Amino acid sequence: MLKIVEINNLTVQYPDVKALDDISLVVNQGDFLGIIGPNGAGKSTLFASMLGLYTKYTGTIKFFDEDIKKSKNYLKQLGYVPQKPIFEKNFPVTVTDVVRMGLRKESDENKIDEILQQLWIHELRERRIGELSGGQQQRVFIAKALVNNTKILILDEPVTGIDQQSIDLFYSILRELNSKQKITIIWSSHDLDAVNQLANHVACLNRTLFFHGESEKFFSDDALVKQYSEASMQEHMHHH
Ligand code: ADP
Ligand code: MG
Repeated sequence: MLKIVEINNLTVQYPDVKALDDISLVVNQGDFLGIIGPNGAGKSTLFASMLGLYTKYTGTIKFFDEDIKKSKNYLKQLGYVPQKPIFEKNFPVTVTDVVRMGLRKESDENKIDEILQQLWIHELRERRIGELSGGQQQRVFIAKALVNNTKILILDEPVTGIDQQSIDLFYSILRELNSKQKITIIWSSHDLDAVNQLANHVACLNRTLFFHGESEKFFSDDALVKQYSEASMQEHMHHH
């Protein structure tokens, strides 16, 4: 089994808060990892660190056995979908334009058509991005993330503000990308049910890692789920 990511003792101390406390986890090729955690759990901080955007952490992050502070090569294999961006209706950029922004120079233009077809948005290619529904926009951003034959996809709470029907479609696309195209998915969410349905591995994050392992092991243990839900709820109340 090819190890994609190995994180050891990752700690992030912001001036006012310790956002991540001694996190260690491994992601293997083909994994569909759901990172569950309430607001403020450190999910976005974890991703920012993995993407090389935040560097003042202690501990190590390795992609393909190489420390990301030593080599940025891994970024070529990584697609990132941030929380849903919001566009003005008339923002003068088409679907094709957005996907083209993800294309590296050496890759070729006809990949754009290919990926738009795969994600069922080819017929929208000349539409302005701001005219599309939230769910359609998120599919465009997955297309942008995958247009270089990317094999690893990182998504940070990608369905926030999207209607339920679009969420279901979005999730079925993620499932297909993972099962048919063997894309490794690392996805954060605060929706336990969605993670239960989609992910084969689970990381329960709340600054510390409460659980990391196969999702069956977590979700079949009612006491564990209850304990985590209560702990994260308390944490939530504490902060708001
Ligand atoms: P999540 O994505 O799970 O909601 P974040 O990683 O955004 O969690 O935030 C974790 C904690 O770190 C929160 O308490 C948040 O206020 C704090 N935080 C996030 N980003 C920064 C930053 N750039 N500087 C200082 N504190 C931050
Ligand atoms: Mg976040």
